[in-house]
Amino acid sequence: MAATSTRKEALERISKVFHDALERMIPAEEDQRLRGETFRDFELQAQEFKAALIPALLEERARLTDSAEVREAGCCPPCGSRQTRWAAAPVQKEIRGPDGVIVLTKQQGRCRSCGRSFSPSGS
Ligand SMILES: [Zn+2]
Repeated sequence: MAATSTRKEALERISKVFHDALERMIPAEEDQRLRGETFRDFELQAQEFKAALIPALLEERARLTDSAEVREAGCCPPCGSRQTRWAAAPVQKEIRGPDGVIVLTKQQGRCRSCGRSFSPSGS
């Protein structure tokens, strides 16, 4: 089992997403106009900020888990058989969370005994 990203890569991506989202809400250049007039406008901008940052944070955190990528499909969770294989190449799966769409890479195993497919990482 292995992570599919390094901490350095994760921190760089999250920092860039954070900085870009913050720059959209509060541009560093004083001559750039601030968007919005009301507190409600500011709240909506804060939600945009969160929607940009949280998915990137969750995607990078998932890539850092030891089970992000496994070498063998392992045992079939439903029947326990070791007669398993990879079903196909890993797929990108979109998950809609409360803070936006999160894209995760999922490996898929298939059982030769019962025919079911499963996620070897348990995700
Ligand atoms: Zn099975």
